[in-house]
Amino acid sequence: MTIDWQKQAEKYRDQYLSDLKELISIPSVRDDEHKTDDYPLGEGPAKALQKFLSFGERDGFTVKNLDNLVGYIEYGSGEQTFAMQSHADVMPAGDGWETNPFEMTEKNGNLYGRGTSDDKGPGLAAYYGLRMLKDNGILPKMKIRLIIGTDEESDWTGMKHYFEVEPQPTLGFSPDAEFPLINGEKGNAAYETTFGKTNGAEYTLKEFDSGLRTNMVPGNATALIETDNNEKFVDAFTDFLDKQPLSGDIKATGDGIAVHLIGKQAHAMAPENGINAGTYLAAFLNQFNFEGAAKQFLSFIAEYLHDDTRAHKIGVNHVDDVMGELTMNVGIMKFDFRTGGLVNTNFRYPKGINDTQILQALLKVADKLGGEVKEISHMVPHYVDPDDPIVKTLLAVYAQQTGAKDVKPEVVGGGTYARMMPRGVAFGALFPGTQDTMHQANEFQPINDLLKAMAIYGQSIYELTAK
Ligand SMILES: [Zn+2]
Repeated sequence: MTIDWQKQAEKYRDQYLSDLKELISIPSVRDDEHKTDDYPLGEGPAKALQKFLSFGERDGFTVKNLDNLVGYIEYGSGEQTFAMQSHADVMPAGDGWETNPFEMTEKNGNLYGRGTSDDKGPGLAAYYGLRMLKDNGILPKMKIRLIIGTDEESDWTGMKHYFEVEPQPTLGFSPDAEFPLINGEKGNAAYETTFGKTNGAEYTLKEFDSGLRTNMVPGNATALIETDNNEKFVDAFTDFLDKQPLSGDIKATGDGIAVHLIGKQAHAMAPENGINAGTYLAAFLNQFNFEGAAKQFLSFIAEYLHDDTRAHKIGVNHVDDVMGELTMNVGIMKFDFRTGGLVNTNFRYPKGINDTQILQALLKVADKLGGEVKEISHMVPHYVDPDDPIVKTLLAVYAQQTGAKDVKPEVVGGGTYARMMPRGVAFGALFPGTQDTMHQANEFQPINDLLKAMAIYGQSIYELTAK
């Protein structure tokens, strides 16, 4: 059977765009404060899942919602299962948007909105790829499931639930990263370092707040300071802004001096692409005479973490020939004079080093500063043999449709659902050359890229399940 996959994708354009618009309009950010028995992660993630499943139902697929945490759209039958793992939740919007992040907006052929690139756009493209089989009457030799999680951006609650209650898929891919293909993912470990609440008299750190998530470079940081040396402090801040690649403001309030720094958000797997407003603010404040736990909190960030995405200062920098460099993100920094300080660090590490060694390194520094460290999450590195058909077939389809030469699988620091399957890889939908705006303000994806991805997904599913 010969199918012109790209032509097929073009035929779906209007319906795809209208479905995607609906998905983007649901602010499916995990919201623990408003969780209920029916909505264990808050209403948004479940509503987006339900909406996604409703498309499958509309188009005549078997669908199942597992407790509003995860669901799947199924086609075909057989003992083996081919899985595609996508997610309907999104990162918080953050600041700096030029359009409403929850209203899909088209500008110059690009679709703007939270989730256009990560992962509603690509997940829906995979869904339309699956539709190509069904709409052409092609029956696969195995069961195909598009599994939709609702908590990819935090703890993978939904996808873990799926793997607990449903049989293990045989092989598959996650359309939640980039082309050509990712067959290796670094280990991922997060730690929380906590400090006490004691403070000094000359400079008092009342509050410090930066970062929303462990997997995001904070774009904003604020602090509230009390001091009698107002003028000196304000002058130093102005001077700091002149010299550093950040903007900000400073003002006197009834409670003290409020400082605000604006850096640049980025994904934690490539922290060098961001400007960490929190570590910069700590570095600025660290030059003043703070005392006690406040001082320890600031110097931990400023002296051991700031401007060091490869973690040289704490001594865990490591490079592996196949899997690349260890990277570190400082995702959350908080201090409150009533409750104390907290610093959340996230490491993506290759083989050759492990999470215990990183913990030891953090403990060594924290010990000196009166802090305490605990590991809060961990995933081991993942690697699929480049000769496995899941890698070879997908790369061949990609090369055939794009004309790309010499395509090779890659290893990244991002963790995708693919690592949950021994034969799982990440495949698209960000093309080389397209700007990566995942987890950032003004997230977008070109329409043509999404349609190209859809065509690649259609053929890939066909080659791996029906041929
Ligand atoms: Zn994603």
